[in-house]
Amino acid sequence: MHPALEQVDWEREGEAVVELLAALLRFDTTNPPGNEAACVEFLADALRRDGVEPEVLSPAPGRANLVARLPGGDGGQAPLLLNGHVDVVAAEAGRWRHPPFAGEVHDGVIWGRGAVDMKQMVAMSVATVGLLARLGVPLRRDLKLAAVADEEAGCAAGSQWLVDHHPDKVRAGHALGEVGGATFYLGGRPFYPVQVAEKGIAWLRAVASGATGHGSIPRDDNAVVRLSEFLARVGRRRLALRASPEARRFLEALASLQGRAGRAALPLLLHPRWSNLVLRRGVRDAGMARLLGAVLRNTASPTVLQAGSKVNVIPGQASAELDGRIAIGSSEAELLAELRALAGPDIELALIAPSQPPTVTPRGDELFGLLAGVVAEHHPGAVAVPAITPGFTDAKFWSRLGAACYGFAPVRLEPSDPDFAAMFHGDDERIPVAGLKAGLRMLADTVARHCCR
Ligand SMILES: [Zn+2]
Repeated sequence: MHPALEQVDWEREGEAVVELLAALLRFDTTNPPGNEAACVEFLADALRRDGVEPEVLSPAPGRANLVARLPGGDGGQAPLLLNGHVDVVAAEAGRWRHPPFAGEVHDGVIWGRGAVDMKQMVAMSVATVGLLARLGVPLRRDLKLAAVADEEAGCAAGSQWLVDHHPDKVRAGHALGEVGGATFYLGGRPFYPVQVAEKGIAWLRAVASGATGHGSIPRDDNAVVRLSEFLARVGRRRLALRASPEARRFLEALASLQGRAGRAALPLLLHPRWSNLVLRRGVRDAGMARLLGAVLRNTASPTVLQAGSKVNVIPGQASAELDGRIAIGSSEAELLAELRALAGPDIELALIAPSQPPTVTPRGDELFGLLAGVVAEHHPGAVAVPAITPGFTDAKFWSRLGAACYGFAPVRLEPSDPDFAAMFHGDDERIPVAGLKAGLRMLADTVARHCCR
């Protein structure tokens, strides 16, 4: 632990962060519509009690973003930005064991939508900034905080809006946010994935055309059939392998945690000839196999279908929306070319919205070593793994202002704790109290090592 934090009463700070998270979970910030303003005002009050003067910036009625800054004097070193989003996805209350917006604690676990995605990081970040403000320790760089709206609907009223309208308030050398920092176990060994790259995004519409006609007389040029054949090809075939340096680094780190068989098998995932076989046979956990399959290539998942309006009329058009994701090192143009090759001449493909390229944290950046040191000290035997996420985070926008972004929202989990990854957007989202308290110590130590004199 950094010397500046050695006198801290961690039991008290831990209880406070549990209470803060429980309170945040009681605000229903389901997006859409988001309605983050009340939650953000609550956070602003919490910071003011610790002597921090935050700003609440509102892009639209009911929407709000919080920014705060602890000044680092004239050291001139690049600021650190702690960040998290306060909006959440919808929860179907009837499917939960405890209500999703009550912030209840049962048997040492805090329940609620947002407990892992990602009000826990917001609570820990606010607690860390408040703690350092109360301690009054001198900083050698600015410590910035952004608690944002609208991540779950694409960031237009959140990080993207801040970057476009208030860039000076969120510009940083480094950013810590989603996704990563919670303990995973591989063959019994603990590791902490730290996001150093995220895939790009290209949402697409495919439109098949054909001749119209009476349903009683089948035709080969039926648009619904053409679209279905295309979607079946997209669903069944894996697109080309993309062996980026980031993918290699991720797999090598995972392999180093494995026994001899895993150590030999995982690097073969980057080999065009063996990759699919290893995914099918060599990765025991089905969820892990799907994740690795996704991070190693461009992908497109068909999600929305539209065609026809009457059972006896063959429609002239059928369309589908596809959630396209761009692998590290690839591009929108490459993804489109791969899909066009599967589509054939009767299907038009077009973007629904401007695509976003992949985000990559520069290799050799000094903060990864610091994070790895914090993980090793706070969880003996555990290692930090530089990971790729197939998803989308606010890092897309912080990185536009030059920040090297890491997914590091630390939570210490035990092997018996519920499956953390499965709770993102899932039912019964919850976080162990002990894991959150340990996470606060890890985050505060990380910030102190990077920012305190
Ligand atoms: Zn999230």
